[in-house]
Amino acid sequence: MILVLNTGSSSIKAAIFDGTLTEIAGATLTGLGDADGDAVLSVTGQKQTVAAHDHGAGIAVILDALSGHEITAVAHRVVHGGTKLTAPTRLTDAAIATIEANVPLAPLHNPPALAGIHAMATVRPDLPQFASFDTAFHATQPDLATTYALPKAQRDAGIRRYGFHGLSYASMVDHFGAGIPKRLLALHLGNGASLCAILDGKSVATSMGYSPLEGLTMGTRTGCIDGMAVLRIAEEIGIDAAGTLLNKQSGLKGLAGTNDMRDLLASDGTDAQFAVDHFCYWAARHAGSAIVAMGGIDAVAFTGGIGENSAPIRDRIMAHLSFLGDVPFHTVEAREERQIAQDAMQVTT
Ligand code: ADP
Repeated sequence: MILVLNTGSSSIKAAIFDGTLTEIAGATLTGLGDADGDAVLSVTGQKQTVAAHDHGAGIAVILDALSGHEITAVAHRVVHGGTKLTAPTRLTDAAIATIEANVPLAPLHNPPALAGIHAMATVRPDLPQFASFDTAFHATQPDLATTYALPKAQRDAGIRRYGFHGLSYASMVDHFGAGIPKRLLALHLGNGASLCAILDGKSVATSMGYSPLEGLTMGTRTGCIDGMAVLRIAEEIGIDAAGTLLNKQSGLKGLAGTNDMRDLLASDGTDAQFAVDHFCYWAARHAGSAIVAMGGIDAVAFTGGIGENSAPIRDRIMAHLSFLGDVPFHTVEAREERQIAQDAMQVTT
């Protein structure tokens, strides 16, 4: 049985998969790191308050909650693999050091994953650990697609486009199997939103760049914004506050006060309607760019909380693309955890 862990700054999501990649149990811890030291554990819909001050304590709570299952390996979701970790890997000391070296690339995302990895190694040193990376699926992009037109010093320092949501896109490719459309426009629309040009099952372009900020209008992230506008905002409110503003207070929330698409669709307020229009229009604008990157389009596939559940949003984005003719579209369930378990099973070294 493989334990899959998705460790965020204030939450840990855990799922156990058996050898046939069926999810047989799960547990979620939220509110980790709250000032009161309490967190909320959810197991099969039952919630209880537990004491968990840090990720180490959180991992212990999760293991306790799932103690009825015999775990033989642990597989972690790690957002950023950088240029070196472009495939799922066994977590050797060297691999862990590489993830640590990538922290400057993903200061919000890699540290919690590392905390989870170290906590597991302390509590269960007997278990082999593996990692899958959100960036890895996009390693097949050509240099033209990943390079920002910057001087060599900055390019050499890793300032380039990476792309994210790769585990979702990899699971989508798996879902289609041999029947995957040749030129597939994939849209992962959740709180974070991106799209990917998938040609012959491989990423050739994606809307997120150096960080998950770039590209589509998202729940709380701006999506594309001119670098000079970023500098101006940073000049006025400081670099840290600018980072928070662009990542946490912008997007749908910045335009209409909430990042919940259901509320926006239900509202008849003009701000809400503008935010929804903005989301759909920019998804389609970036789709145009991805379609160029793969030389045309054979099908569209939607995934993520919005992509899977909201027919009105899918229809509006498809309406923007109607000039392309009758392009079929699919709705695919994002199964990132299952993908991580499958990756770990396939890593043999
Ligand atoms: P995350 O990126 O945090 O994993 P999800 O993929 O769960 O997020 O997507 C969250 C978004 O999906 C929220 O904006 C939520 O309002 C939206 N969503 C979920 N169900 C629906 C629905 N039936 N209609 C419209 N939006 C929905």
